[in-house]
Amino acid sequence: MSIRLNIEPFTMPGLKTERPLIIAGPCSAESEKQTLETAKQLSKYGIQIFRAGIWKPRTRPNTFEGYGEKALPWLKKVKQETGMYTATEVANAKHVFEALKYGIDILWIGARTTTNPFAVQEVADALKGLDIPVLVKNPVNPDIELWIGAFERLNDAGIKRMAAIHRGFSAYEKSVYRNPPQWEVPIELKRRIPNLPIITDPSHICGTWERLFEISQQAMDLDFDGLIIESHINPDEALSDAKQQITPSELKTMLDKIILRKAEISEENKPTLEQLRAIIDKYDNEIMNILGKRMKIADEIGSYKKANNITILQSKRWDEILTKRISQGKMLGLSSEFVTKIFRAIHQESINHQEAIMNNPKL
Ligand code: PEP
Ligand code: MN
Repeated sequence: MSIRLNIEPFTMPGLKTERPLIIAGPCSAESEKQTLETAKQLSKYGIQIFRAGIWKPRTRPNTFEGYGEKALPWLKKVKQETGMYTATEVANAKHVFEALKYGIDILWIGARTTTNPFAVQEVADALKGLDIPVLVKNPVNPDIELWIGAFERLNDAGIKRMAAIHRGFSAYEKSVYRNPPQWEVPIELKRRIPNLPIITDPSHICGTWERLFEISQQAMDLDFDGLIIESHINPDEALSDAKQQITPSELKTMLDKIILRKAEISEENKPTLEQLRAIIDKYDNEIMNILGKRMKIADEIGSYKKANNITILQSKRWDEILTKRISQGKMLGLSSEFVTKIFRAIHQESINHQEAIMNNPKL
C-alpha cells in the first residue's frame, strides 16, 4: 500500500541531478567568518547546498541556541559569494518568515519538531502557497505515521518538492550511535512513498565523526538519494555538535571513498540473482512452515497450562531459551541483536496464542 502524495522531483536550477545529493555545512552558524569560510571551502569541493542552524533546538538550556535572525545575513552572503543554495531549520512561523526574508532556499523541519503536529501544522500554514523545497527529519521516536503526517500537512499546504531526512532515533539503551539508524524505518518509508527522496544524516546518527563513512556507505547501498553532513572549518571549536563535525577537506576525502552501486538489475546479472533468490524463497518457505508448526505446539502447551492452572509466562524457561539460541546464533554467524529480536517476536507470538486459548471460555 503506497501513499499518494503530490511530490515533484527535488530539482533546483543548476543543481546536479546525479546521486547522491549532498548538503553540508556547520551544525550552527557561529560567526560571519566561520559561516563564509566553511561555505567557500565546501563550494570549492563541489558542494552545492549549504546547511547551517540558525535556531538550535538544544536538549538542555544554557547551551548555545543559535544566533537567530542576526545570523541570517551570513547565509545570504554565502549565497551571494559562492552561489550555493542555503538551507536551515525552522520550527515555527516566525522562523519561516525570517528565513524567507533573507532568501533561504531550502527549509528543514527538525526531529523534535516533527514529533509535534501542532508545530508542523504551524510551519505548513506559514508556507501556504509558496513553492520552496522542504526537508523533514524523522521524528525522534520511530513513529513512521508521524513522519508521513508531516509530509501530508506540507503537501496539503501546496509544498511539492519534499525529501525525508533520516537522522536516526533516540534510544534509552547505550549504543555506539547517538541516534541508532533503525534502517527499517526509512526502508518502510521508501516502500510507502516510493517517489519521496531520502537523505541520510550520518552526523546526527553517529554523534562522533568515526562512523560517518560507514553510515554514508550504508545509505548509498540502500539506494537512498543523498547525504546531509555537518562540516565546520574548525570542528574542535564548534559551539554545538563539535564531536561529529569534520572539516570540508575531510568531508571531500570521505565522499570520494563512497562506492555508488547501481539500483537497476541488468539482464546480465539477472540469472545468478534469480537462482540465489529461488534458494532464499525455499528457505523462507521452510521458516514459515516451521513457525506454523511451532505455534501449534504452543497451542497444545496453552491447553495443558489452562487445564492445570499454570501461568503462561515462565520467566526462567524464557531466559534459558534466549541464552541458548544467542550462543547457537554466534556459531551460525547471527548477531545476538538479531537472535534476540527474532526470539522475542516468536516468544510473544506464542504468548498471544496461549492467551487466546486460556481466555476463550469455549476451549
Ligand atoms: C541539526 O541538524 O543540527 C539538528 C538539530 O538535527 P536534529 O533535528 O536531527 O536533531
Ligand atoms: Mn547538529
